[in-house]
This record gives sequence, C-alpha cells and structure tokens, in this order.
Amino acid sequence: MSAAQQTPKRPNIVFVLTDDHAANAISAYGSAINQTPGIDAIAEAGVRFDTALVENALCTPSRAAFLTGTYSHTSDVTTLATHLTNDHETFITALKAAGYRTAMFGKWHLGHGEGYDPVGFDHWEVLPDQGEYFDPEFYTPEGSVRFEGYVTDIITERALAWMAAQGDEPYCVLVWHKAPHRPWQPHPKYADAFSDPIPLPPTFFDDYDGRGTPAHHATMRIADYLTDIDLKEEPPTELGYNERAIWKYQRYMQDYLRCVASVDEGVAAITQALRDRGQWDDTVTIYASDQGFYLGEHGWFDKRFMYEESLRMPFVLSYPARIAAGQQITSLVSNVDVGQTILSFAGVEASAEMQGHDLVPLLAEASGSAAPVDAVRDAHYYRFYEHDDHMHHVWAHYGIRTDRYKLIYYYADGMGLPNTSNVTYPPEWELFDLQNDPFELSSVHLDPAYAEIRSDLTLRLWDLQHQLGDTPHPRQPVPERPLQ
Ligand code: CA
Repeated sequence: MSAAQQTPKRPNIVFVLTDDHAANAISAYGSAINQTPGIDAIAEAGVRFDTALVENALCTPSRAAFLTGTYSHTSDVTTLATHLTNDHETFITALKAAGYRTAMFGKWHLGHGEGYDPVGFDHWEVLPDQGEYFDPEFYTPEGSVRFEGYVTDIITERALAWMAAQGDEPYCVLVWHKAPHRPWQPHPKYADAFSDPIPLPPTFFDDYDGRGTPAHHATMRIADYLTDIDLKEEPPTELGYNERAIWKYQRYMQDYLRCVASVDEGVAAITQALRDRGQWDDTVTIYASDQGFYLGEHGWFDKRFMYEESLRMPFVLSYPARIAAGQQITSLVSNVDVGQTILSFAGVEASAEMQGHDLVPLLAEASGSAAPVDAVRDAHYYRFYEHDDHMHHVWAHYGIRTDRYKLIYYYADGMGLPNTSNVTYPPEWELFDLQNDPFELSSVHLDPAYAEIRSDLTLRLWDLQHQLGDTPHPRQPVPERPLQ
C-alpha cells in the first residue's frame, strides 16, 4: 500500500450559507417558482437532505449552532441580541488547530469587538450586523473597509480570490451571504426577472382556524405587515384585500427570487472554480441556509415558528472522492450536525461540547463500501426564545418533531431575555400529524384519537430536553415518572 493510500487526502471545505433561503425556492427541492442550477449541481453530485431542521429558526442562534455544533441553551446564543463569545470551540478552531487554512467572508451576525470577533480564522471579512446590499462595509482584523458593488457578488469574489491564493494545505472557507434576507434588494441586472405571476402556495389564504392563539397573534401576514420599504412601491389603491395580498406577494417574491438568483450564480462560480482547479472531487462543498422562510405559506413572510417552512433548512453537500452522487436522505438531521460532519470528513475530533451527530454514516460511499445507517436520531428538539417581539409577535415555544409528529409547547414568556417581551400569556399546546396534515392546518392535541400519541410525545419532549441539558419552562406540567 502506498503512502498516499495510507493517508487519505484531507478535503477542502467550502461552506456556502445563506440567510432565510427556503427549500421551496430551490429547484433541487422541487421549487415551483424558480430554478437554481448552481445549488442543484451540488445535490446531484452528492446528497440532498430532505429533513434538515434547525434548532432555533433565527439568524444569530442558527449561526452559533452551525459553528459550535450546540443548541442555543449551550451556546447561550438564544436571541438576536445574544452574541457568541469567542471562548467557544467551533469546527473552525478545531480545523485550524489541525493545520487547516481558514477564512470567513460575509454575514457573521454574532457580535463584534473584543470577545466577539471571529476566532480561528487566518483571514476574515464580515458585514457589520445585518450588512448592506449595496457598497457594503466589512469589518476585518485590520479595520473597516468598504467595497463597491453588490454584496452577494462581493462575498463570492472575495472568497474566490482567497481560495485561489491557497497552496497545498487543505483549507476551509465560509461564504456566508446576507441574501436573500429582508429587505430583498436585488442586483439591478435581475430587475426584470420573474415578471410572470408567481404561483401562490396552497395555504396562502390560511385563516389559522385549527391552530391556537400564536398563529393568530403573529404579525407576519404578507397582506398586512409587509412595509413600503419591503415592497419598494405602494400597492394600487383600487385593489380589494385579497387582490392586494396577491399583489404584495408578487412584489415580495420577485425581489426575493432575484436575490436568490445572485446567490445561485455565486454558488455556480465557486463550483466552477473548484472544477477548473481540479479541486472539486477532493472538496466538501456545502450549501445551506440558516433556517427556512415563509414564501406565502400560511399567508406569511419570515420564520421563527416551529412550523415546517421555517424549521426546515435546505442542506446539500458533495464530496465526489468519497460520497456517492445523487443521494436523498429523509431521516432527521440538524444544523447542530454540520460542524461535526465537517470535522469527520477532515479526520479531526469534535470537541466534547458538541451536541450534534456526525452525518457521514448516513451517506453511501462512492466506493460502494460500508452500508449507510438509517438514522442518527429519532426526534429533533427545537426552541425559539424570543417572545412577542415588537415586529413579529411570535410567542416563545419549544417542541419535538419525529418523522411523523410534531408537538409544540408555547410557554409564551420572555423570561427576561434581551430583545423579548415580558408579557406572559397562558401557555398553549399544538400537535400535528404530518402524515395526515402536511401543511399543519389542524392541531390534534385535543383529539381523543391522539391522546396516547400526545402523552408519549410529551414524555419524549421532557426526556430529550433533559438529555440535551435544557430546562423546561416552570409552568410545564411535570411528567409522572423519572426522566430517562
Ligand atoms: Ca436568517
């Protein structure tokens, strides 16, 4: 056996993350509204995860989960106002310690200044907070710099230039876009794209009958809560309520999909560069978003709820030298798994703090050896900490999702956390049977036919929360048996 065979080549890692990109706007996931050939090519060359779920559907906590491989209660990054202290081990610090070259370009959104700036990177250029779409400022270790142009293109180009300058050592680059985050400002070259009417999702006129107070209480309805800044023009005055809602949906989706078009173009440029340099086969290329997004489903924009459209993130990955092409994985995976999976591919040990799973055993090897396992977990834990904030008014909640069911407990209390309301409402439960009700229109938590399932899921929620080291809200009824 030659030395090369004994020591497999360590892969490069290219991790493209976007902000608020729903799987429903990716053609690899069957989008009815756009085409994304750049992202699709990664899925075709590797794997598409169909049930990739975030542990907290919000920009800042999700970024912390990717980096640290931990849940929000462990990273202490629970809301938009809680930032990641740089004493945590991340998959980046582990790769760097193992000899990887590391860099970060784009949206950080985890805090700035001493104690919060990115660590473990040989080079970083990050947007302040949410960043700007045009002529954006970036923070770097050397100070602030402003680049002319469109933010998505700049992040891609800066990352490509850094990748081109690397030598023989393996590298890991984070290409973390601002797009397609609100207020959805596209590149002018896409100003006329998506002019045809964009199909409405089946739940666009949802009236929230069949669900509890939280869905009614939220202020994310396209018809009522998209602003003039979001829409960039006033709706025609002669339209009735439903016609105005559809008009606003078209304006929203046009700009959203135009922003996605620049993202996809950037992904295609990166994969092409990898192929041109002969690095594609030996690179772990990842595309994901920090959570899903409502593209008119339930009449909404935005995220936050544990309902499927925001809970689910797009997540595709390729590594042709090792992983078979064209795989679709339906078992439950999470954003907390991504860091550990990257470290596994790199042959680097994960830190003891990490709480996710290595997903490599789920994947069929390109060599055909080693039969993949069916699942890494039987249930997913979710918690959204912000409560009744002034813009979206989503209640704080946590819950458990299995392959078929979802139980949600709205504890509805800000608990003194930053950026949340301290108004406390009576708690509520919801239970959905995703097999019979995939759009989550009718909670069955009071249906006697589901009493046993509800009881079982309630105990499993307690156990999972306990196993992961989180604490239930004091009002949650205590189970009548010891925790597992
Ligand atoms: Ca986001």
